[in-house]
Amino acid sequence: MRFKKPRGTQDFYGETMVRWAGIESRLADLAKRYGYSEIRTPIFEMSELFVRTVGEGSDIVSKEMYTFKDKKGRAMTLRPENTAPVMRSFLENGLHRSGGMTRFFYIGPMFRYDRPQAGRYRQFHQFGVEAIGSSNPAVDAEVIEMSLEVYRMFGFEGLEVSLNSVGCPVCRPAFRETLVNALEGHKDELCGDCSERALINPMRIFDCKECVEVKKKLPVITDHLCGECEEHFQKLQKILKDLDIDFVLDPLLVRGLDYYTRTAFEILRPGLGGQNALCGGGRYDGLARDCGGGDVPAIGFSSGIERLLENLPEKALAELGPKRPDVFFIIAGEEGASMAMKLAGRLRREGFHVVCELSGRAMKKQMKTASEAGARFSVFIGQDELEKEKVTIKNMETGEQKEVSMDGLAEILR
Ligand code: AMP
Repeated sequence: MRFKKPRGTQDFYGETMVRWAGIESRLADLAKRYGYSEIRTPIFEMSELFVRTVGEGSDIVSKEMYTFKDKKGRAMTLRPENTAPVMRSFLENGLHRSGGMTRFFYIGPMFRYDRPQAGRYRQFHQFGVEAIGSSNPAVDAEVIEMSLEVYRMFGFEGLEVSLNSVGCPVCRPAFRETLVNALEGHKDELCGDCSERALINPMRIFDCKECVEVKKKLPVITDHLCGECEEHFQKLQKILKDLDIDFVLDPLLVRGLDYYTRTAFEILRPGLGGQNALCGGGRYDGLARDCGGGDVPAIGFSSGIERLLENLPEKALAELGPKRPDVFFIIAGEEGASMAMKLAGRLRREGFHVVCELSGRAMKKQMKTASEAGARFSVFIGQDELEKEKVTIKNMETGEQKEVSMDGLAEILR
């Protein structure tokens, strides 16, 4: 039997993998330029971490977690997101004791048992940052700016920042009541999922793609913010304006996870249809407490790498493509092979990108492979060349060909 990969997963190889690695390295670079350092946490965590933080009312916890029992019967979950694991690690390693701010970035796989469709996978990858330790709206602005920079850096245009405040534990309970009362009058108009959400987590109704008409009739959180949340939201907007960052206020934007407080934002690329959110983020001042710590304000975002790659502008696509080999050795016979490998070794140590065609196929076929790989030069080693201790080098662009001594190869390439 031939095995197939699990549904909703992908294999990465060839040009895609080359671009993928290039994207990761540019993202890491960007994060470092903003003073963020990398954090790697385990791929699986105790299930309870996600249940307690992301919340039972969320789709992630109620439907999408890959949960299994380990041999001791403990419930473990393949991480569906990485904000809670980062906060768990931050607290567990006592980083809160140093005071000040901690800035982390991460890149890695996340797992959600969701219905696979274009742009949605069960194993997908996120680049994300977490700025922990400050409630200053300037930090929110920095994080939003950085999330935009992720896409600008690859040449994306026409992006939209969608912004909202989802309040805090001071203002949300009263709003929740107002919302529940308002929902009473629209019970029959809600979809099946939202009828349940109305009971467990009514704010999540704003996330529903189906209940569009009802949403327009509901009260919005931004009309019910407490004084401090309102002030934070106004300050953030002012800083964004000072930084010339355009944004669109969307009072219906509430992110699906329970731990979000105040700022919620998404980077949208209009025209992408249902999956138009490239990146989502927000403030989560309540998360540390949910993780068993004290009050530690924090904000972050996460950006899907598949979605970035699948929508990459032409120019970045070309820039991030595979590197052309400097030299392709085309070889006749076994003796030729060992000579080529020796010469190739020398050139590689000098930093050249060298491929030896070791397939033993006809010279013509080897030539074809060299030109398909986009090699700058090909070098022939046949019986004639071995006898004369010389090689024939061909400039693949001009077709110009000449014989050079084996020792003179590096010189020519340079
Ligand atoms: P979220 O963690 O749900 O806020 O998602 C943040 C970003 O991760 C989204 O904007 C997408 O780019 C990406 N993302 C989330 N879920 C998936 C998925 N199932 N497949 C691919 N990308 C995803």
